[in-house]
Amino acid sequence: MDRTTLLGICLLVIVITAGIAASGATNIQTTVTKPTGDTIEKMQKVQDEATARKNQPGGYPSPSTGGKYHTRLVLLGTTGGVTWYPGTDRASSSSALVVGDTLYIIDLGQGSTSRLSEAFNPGHPLVGQEMGSTSTFLEKARALFFSHLHQDHIADYPSLLLIGPGAGLGTRTDPATGVVSIVPLVVIGPADRGMCEIDRSHYLDRGGTIVYTDSADPALVTPTPGTRLMTSLIWQAYAQTINDMTLDNAYRDFTKLVEVREIGGTGPGDISFPVPEVDLANGTTCAPMDPFEVYRDENVVVTAALVDHHQVFPTFAYRFDTDDGSVVFSGDTGPDTRGNLQKLGEGADILVHEVIDRAWIDQRMGFPDEDTPAYALKTHLLTSHTTIDMVGSVARDCRVDTLVLNHIVPGNTPTSHLLQAQHNFTGRLIIGEDLMEIGVGKPSW
Ligand SMILES: [Zn+2]
Ligand SMILES: [Zn+2]
Repeated sequence: MDRTTLLGICLLVIVITAGIAASGATNIQTTVTKPTGDTIEKMQKVQDEATARKNQPGGYPSPSTGGKYHTRLVLLGTTGGVTWYPGTDRASSSSALVVGDTLYIIDLGQGSTSRLSEAFNPGHPLVGQEMGSTSTFLEKARALFFSHLHQDHIADYPSLLLIGPGAGLGTRTDPATGVVSIVPLVVIGPADRGMCEIDRSHYLDRGGTIVYTDSADPALVTPTPGTRLMTSLIWQAYAQTINDMTLDNAYRDFTKLVEVREIGGTGPGDISFPVPEVDLANGTTCAPMDPFEVYRDENVVVTAALVDHHQVFPTFAYRFDTDDGSVVFSGDTGPDTRGNLQKLGEGADILVHEVIDRAWIDQRMGFPDEDTPAYALKTHLLTSHTTIDMVGSVARDCRVDTLVLNHIVPGNTPTSHLLQAQHNFTGRLIIGEDLMEIGVGKPSW
């Protein structure tokens, strides 16, 4: 999908946005009244009915179904692309791996920080918890991994950086003393790749503008900022509110709450990246390579490998090995990773893999002539993503037990289409839904 898709769907987004704005205007509550016993009873009924609906086949699964496992995969956002699809409330690409009480987050697409709160920030006045309690759930988040820097994987990163400080981001509370200290969230993602994609959609011929970062330091002027500069620029863009919060509202230093480690960067703490032979000028972005380690602590060892999301370079798949089992996240990729995903995923318990619906692409784009922007976009969609009918073969070749579909594009793909993922795969197929929990390994209690 990605940035070229914006051209084709901007009208739709404008229409949707206008609709949201119009409907929002009529929903503003101007008075607040304390709920009576009757009201609370009615609200509880509505909530119970919603929960029951979610537990029905075809509804959302209960977030508690994986609660008996020490290690759990929690899907936070299960679609992708540069839009909000009509008729679905899937958030965009994001997952959490929970080991014991510790969270590892993979990507943060649009809507996913709200899902984080829904999944890990329990407590509601209608179900017995105290009203007005302070959120600290982000104290459990240890590290965040970006597969690549497209907006459907990072759009909620500003929300995490801006709102997270009010929910425990980058801090730990000593349970014995109550003293809060700073333990930054580790943020791992690609470094600046240094060059833009080839202009296959003739954007510059049509008078398009390339956006550069702005700095007096030439080293910081780039059209392709990496994870560290992106983080710094978010703080700069929102400097007014950040400074208000620290100077006037006693918040901690926002810039100390995360610690960025770039894969392929040269800064302190960065992760060296054994770059294989790639030919970016010709769009070859995924040469064969062995997996390499990017992170390790007492719960997980995380390895990565390049996958094929041309022309984007680099795009990483990640593998998390725990005592309970292994989970692999494909990131955005076409089906042919020159064996990289198969090496990384070999024998894992769970493969979380992106899919795109070929029928939707054909219906939407038809069969355009070569050397047109539409042809470039269709080629991109079909080869830098994995069609549903191809993903089963990928899972089979990775020899995984379970295939979980995420980054489902479009977000409202019919289930009948998604079931094509079972083609060539004899293991367990799970069609991902936001807030679905999947246990890893054996139940612990
Ligand atoms: Zn994506
Ligand atoms: Zn992408």
